[in-house]
Amino acid sequence: MESIFEYMENYDYENLFLCQDKDLNFKAIIAIHDTTLGPATGGCRMWQYESEMDAIEDALRLARGMTYKYAAAGVNLGGGKAVIIGDPGRKDREPIFRLLGKFIDRLGGLYITGEDVGTTLKDMEYIRMETRHVVTLPSYLGGAGDIAPMTAFGVIRAMQACCKRVYGQDSLEGKVVAVQGLGAVGHNIVGQLHDLGAKLIVSDIDPKKVENMTARYGVESISPENIYDVDCDIFCPCALGGILNDNTLDRLKCKIVCGAANNQLKEERHGELIEEKGMVYAPDYIANAGGTIFDTDRLESGNVNNERGKEKVSRIYENMEKVFEIADRDNIPTYLAADRVAEERIRQVAQVKRYRVDPRL
Ligand code: NAD
Repeated sequence: MESIFEYMENYDYENLFLCQDKDLNFKAIIAIHDTTLGPATGGCRMWQYESEMDAIEDALRLARGMTYKYAAAGVNLGGGKAVIIGDPGRKDREPIFRLLGKFIDRLGGLYITGEDVGTTLKDMEYIRMETRHVVTLPSYLGGAGDIAPMTAFGVIRAMQACCKRVYGQDSLEGKVVAVQGLGAVGHNIVGQLHDLGAKLIVSDIDPKKVENMTARYGVESISPENIYDVDCDIFCPCALGGILNDNTLDRLKCKIVCGAANNQLKEERHGELIEEKGMVYAPDYIANAGGTIFDTDRLESGNVNNERGKEKVSRIYENMEKVFEIADRDNIPTYLAADRVAEERIRQVAQVKRYRVDPRL
């Protein structure tokens, strides 16, 4: 990134806030992308960057990603993100996160934060001591607690919509699903798919996690190197980004790619290539939105309600259908259609918001 303002102009960013305290060795960035739909919301990442510009670019890029994620998910929130520059293993967490909480509080609700890479629920508790503008919280503080099961449920709803497109019906019974990564989301996906009658082949670099799943559900396993070569209906990436690339796309033998991992396409052109090879790709940010849909439901509704939250997550099925509709309408790959779903919703809601109601009436 050469010029910050040029970058912000190119992608229509609203604000960028820099926060520092020398005594606490604290440096953070809060990026606000678009607040048409509601307050800018997105997690706080803690990471060591090669340069300040890299950190700023990451915050901006991630904030924009949140705008698209919420817009396409039908949620009334805008996109924002915070980045703390520093070692994610840093021990003195209370002052760091309380100070971030103070800075967020000063923004008066413009930005709502949450957990992300390098931060924990405990860190969110520190933030909560200084501001109420934090969404990801343990249930004893009024939050939704562990959201991974809902992320998993959302991925499965996206899979069902993909099955409908490919096989004409959305049942997962008997479908062979290869799951890469058995962490917080992956192991929940395995459990839920097992209950739906799918046949599972699982893989993780941690043999204990594999053993746990094979013992519990009697599923097959395969080495992390060979997961891409498995004969299956659905490949479900739940570990790393960039796994859809020149090397793996030639090896995949599935009809559908649908998983929780962020940034699955190594480069945008792989989103075109995957379709040329006859596979249906569920854009990652559509399929993996369940956790955040569930988590942020209480911002609109005032409290956590499992039934209502789950119902909202379930609509990922319809969100996927919208993506397919626009992909067919405009003859474009699904990863681009997802962006279009988000952009069209923002444009339409902005139009609705032009019509003001006089508060004195
Ligand atoms: P996690 O760290 O709990 O699990 C990741 C798992 O992948 C670990 O078990 C790890 O051992 C395994 N792994 C790493 N490299 C691997 C490889 N090469 N082959 C096989 N397994 C490998 O993370 P998570 O919370 O389950 O998230 C998984 C993915 O989904 C991430 O990309 C994350 O960004 C994304 N995501 C998660 C959520 C959520 O609710 N947790 C929401 C949206 C997106």
